[in-house]
Amino acid sequence: MEREIRETLESSAEAAQPVELDQPALGRVSRMDAIQQQKMIEANRHAQGARLQLVRSALRRFEEDEYGDCMNCGECVGFARLKARPESLFCIECQKARERN
Ligand SMILES: [Zn+2]
Repeated sequence: MEREIRETLESSAEAAQPVELDQPALGRVSRMDAIQQQKMIEANRHAQGARLQLVRSALRRFEEDEYGDCMNCGECVGFARLKARPESLFCIECQKARERN
């Protein structure tokens, strides 16, 4: 998963570059399209970057033999939750509490 996200980020790096506004070949509408598209790619890359951080933390915890324990309360994160989202660092209760804050 770590590699997959990293490769996706690498392959979208160029598309996320700011649009050159003075490109004469681009008309006004296609320039707006290009900017909008670039913003979407950027937002997507941001989300993936955050996920990559989570995956890396999970991998580190795996090495430290703490994988599957909630980083907040120390209880089991739960198999079903880890199966759905292997990068989960918190049990469902602590995750909900974090999202509320
Ligand atoms: Zn917890």
